[in-house]
Amino acid sequence: MTRFGTVALVGSPNAGKSTLLNNLIGEKISIVSPKVQTTRSVIRGIAISKDTQIVFFDTPGLFKPFRKLEKSIVKAAWHGLHEADYILMLFDSIKGITDNDIIIIKNLQNQGIPCSAVLNKVDKVDKPKLLELTNKLAHYSLFEEIFMISALTGEKVKELSEILFDKMPEGEWHFSEDEITDAPSKFLAQEFTREQVFLKLHKEIPYNVAVETEAWEEQPDGSLKINQVIYVMKPSQKAIVVGKSGEMIKTIGMEARKNIADLLDKKVHLYLFVKIKENWVDIPELCM
Ligand code: GDP
Ligand code: MG
Repeated sequence: MTRFGTVALVGSPNAGKSTLLNNLIGEKISIVSPKVQTTRSVIRGIAISKDTQIVFFDTPGLFKPFRKLEKSIVKAAWHGLHEADYILMLFDSIKGITDNDIIIIKNLQNQGIPCSAVLNKVDKVDKPKLLELTNKLAHYSLFEEIFMISALTGEKVKELSEILFDKMPEGEWHFSEDEITDAPSKFLAQEFTREQVFLKLHKEIPYNVAVETEAWEEQPDGSLKINQVIYVMKPSQKAIVVGKSGEMIKTIGMEARKNIADLLDKKVHLYLFVKIKENWVDIPELCM
């Protein structure tokens, strides 16, 4: 029997999400996206322990959105959370529970995904204050457990990760161990494209998009040629993704290409194809 799960790390900016992620993955590191500071919700790392594989997502600070762009970023972040089997919400114990944290908690209460709280930075906070924070958090009846850790020093991170691994549901691994080193780049590249589709078209095409890689070829000049297929479920959706005289797919491709090139730090030629595949939802490797 194997287990597989996705875990989203949420919390206000500076709570320590990136630091914890690096620590959780530690020596078992498979990938950590170099774009740690970017405000998008993408896969950040894969950790394996015995029979269990966990894919971690880091999310942007999930703040209250004001401007239009912020709104779509925040929306994309919450959208990403739907895919999580488990959520860890981090708190900066030095700051306590902020207004922004409360907004996040309220949102999580509507998600119906099991979550635990992580009081971080215990290396800088005394016991009475931690106890006070724990009591406050208990009032929300949202968190299965409340952990106290220091992501920076590593204190109690191992205990947290062991419990987390045990919580993952039974399931097939999505990455074989030897595939991991290469697959994440492909996967991230797919996510970047899916993200653009979502950012530009989420009103028209809420969830029904998957992206697959058909070709991934190093060129003699050192550049990379990538062919990706965007799968939609209906002809009408295909028309929307392609757009009037191909304008939409062109914009999606340009933005995604830029992000992929940044990530891989090389020149990228990205070719996008839109195909209709009914019932793709049933195919697990396309749902990731
Ligand atoms: P993110 O915005 O949630 O990803 O937060 P980061 O991981 O980037 O951390 C924000 C800041 O808090 C950085 O300066 C970290 O070094 C610091 N930090 C993170 N975890 C701890 C911790 O456990 N203790 C202390 N003292 N500082 C921490
Ligand atoms: Mg971060």
